[in-house]
Amino acid sequence: MPSEVAVISGKGGTGKTTVCAALGLIADEIVMADCDVDAPDLHILLNPSNRTANEFIGGKVAVVDYDLCTDCGLCEKACRFHAITGSKIDPIACEGCGVCEIVCPENAIQMVDRQSGNLFDSDTRVGRMAHAKLLPGEGNSGKLVTEVRKLASKIATDNGISTVLIDGSPGIGCPVIATVTGIKLGIIVTEPTLSGIHDMERVNELLAKFKIKATVIINKFDLNMENTEAIERYCKANDIEILGKIKFDHIMTDSMVAATTLPEFAPDHEISLLLRSMWNRVSEILAV
Ligand code: SF4
Ligand code: SF4
Repeated sequence: MPSEVAVISGKGGTGKTTVCAALGLIADEIVMADCDVDAPDLHILLNPSNRTANEFIGGKVAVVDYDLCTDCGLCEKACRFHAITGSKIDPIACEGCGVCEIVCPENAIQMVDRQSGNLFDSDTRVGRMAHAKLLPGEGNSGKLVTEVRKLASKIATDNGISTVLIDGSPGIGCPVIATVTGIKLGIIVTEPTLSGIHDMERVNELLAKFKIKATVIINKFDLNMENTEAIERYCKANDIEILGKIKFDHIMTDSMVAATTLPEFAPDHEISLLLRSMWNRVSEILAV
């Protein structure tokens, strides 16, 4: 089994995906996994070309056979999700519980597979990438994250690659739990704001619950030294290694505007060199 490393953040906008793509570029051999399935954007930087695209079946949806339906109204009364009006089923509101199928006296309702998204295996200039996209209005993102991780692990195993680098969802909800369960290392990207500190603490607590080693990268650390020092104190008190502190520099935005990673855009820039040293340290941790 390959080692899985997830780049996560308690909130969006900390630079998580930018850092993840840059680390992927630096790594010698890697499989990337974009587990931010609700709002994936790693593809913007890595420009994947799909090898395969498969439907993701997230659950079931009720469908009425109107040749059998007598319009008795029993299914409407039984549906706790108010997904039925008369005998018409709203597929968006249907939660797939199957109660209407049970109560229908005419056997006019069937539960059928529901496509909730797509799962892709792609080539990028960094290496292979597993990624996905939920369809609008669809849930079950935790299950789709699990499918992305399974696909990335299979690609890695089939190709003798030892590491999967995951771009996780922001927050601490179901998709993040699905992202971090069983991984070897979490890299929390945070920023020196009060909300950044708070969200870093929450996501670190989540990693601790699953007994996953946490490390931290402080992005734009020089924008507020007082808060950066608060992050450093928290990390010290909780025995969390700080992989590095990235200063604020417009070159990060410039590289994103060019739809590329910083180590490609400016290989000799001090932040590119810092990112290299961070990945070296990650490799050392993974080797233990
Ligand atoms: S499957 Fe459940 S949620 Fe969907 S329409 Fe039937 S009773 Fe309602
Ligand atoms: S319970 Fe069956 S027969 Fe009655 S309205 Fe619903 S689908 Fe039609």
